[in-house]
Amino acid sequence: MLKVNNINVYYGNIQALKGVSLEVNEGEIVTLIGANGAGKSTLLKTLSGLLRPKQGTIEYLGKNLQKRAAQSIVKDGVIQVPEGRRVFSNMTVEENLDLGAYLRHDRAGIAKDKERVFELFPRLLERRKQSSGTLSGGEQQMLAMGRAIMAKPKLLLLDEPSMGLAPLMVKTIFEIIKEINATGTTILLVEQNANMALSIADRAYVIETGKVVLSGRASELQKSDEIRAAYLGGH
Ligand code: ATP
Repeated sequence: MLKVNNINVYYGNIQALKGVSLEVNEGEIVTLIGANGAGKSTLLKTLSGLLRPKQGTIEYLGKNLQKRAAQSIVKDGVIQVPEGRRVFSNMTVEENLDLGAYLRHDRAGIAKDKERVFELFPRLLERRKQSSGTLSGGEQQMLAMGRAIMAKPKLLLLDEPSMGLAPLMVKTIFEIIKEINATGTTILLVEQNANMALSIADRAYVIETGKVVLSGRASELQKSDEIRAAYLGGH
């Protein structure tokens, strides 16, 4: 579905991605794990068309993405949930969800997807008229994910959904990610919480200072001594 081939991405003179290659197959959950500053958000921004690779190619559903405008990438179903959620805090929960569907015109489909969001996240239904700025961190994460679902993603890009959340909320969010995947959405999940990410992913890539240093089945990486020492607190 997605093939990233040897991309180099720069901020001015600083090279943030150094020959990164990775693949996501339809139906998978693939996770990209790495420490602060490794280049995870940079990769997602490049896939969304917010940054351009200087070299390399990005193929999505057989077409090149790397020169296309962000809006046209969204139209093709690549939808990002940004780090730090970024909900519109002066707007209600429901208004935020409606914004997610702003490029769509299929009213019946939009209504159906809103119902689905409220099924996945009953808390958002209870709070549909509430101003989004007053939601808890976990609820804002739910809203950001709900808004992405309203955009009808084929490939959902999640940037550190667990960030700043209490363990129980992290568990809830990860269960919902699995559920979203089970109903047909392919997922690329960027995480610092390697343990949780590896426990729900099919495959994983480890990125360090802009380079992919390891990849494989998530279940195998979870057992690897190297990963345990570096990312799983050695347990
Ligand atoms: P985090 O988990 O902290 O979000 P990350 O893995 O997502 O980290 P990136 O945000 O992709 O890391 O950053 C990769 C590198 O690029 C870092 O060295 C960072 O300082 C640098 N970088 C990121 N954004 C910019 C920018 N706008 N201008 C210059 N350098 C940047």
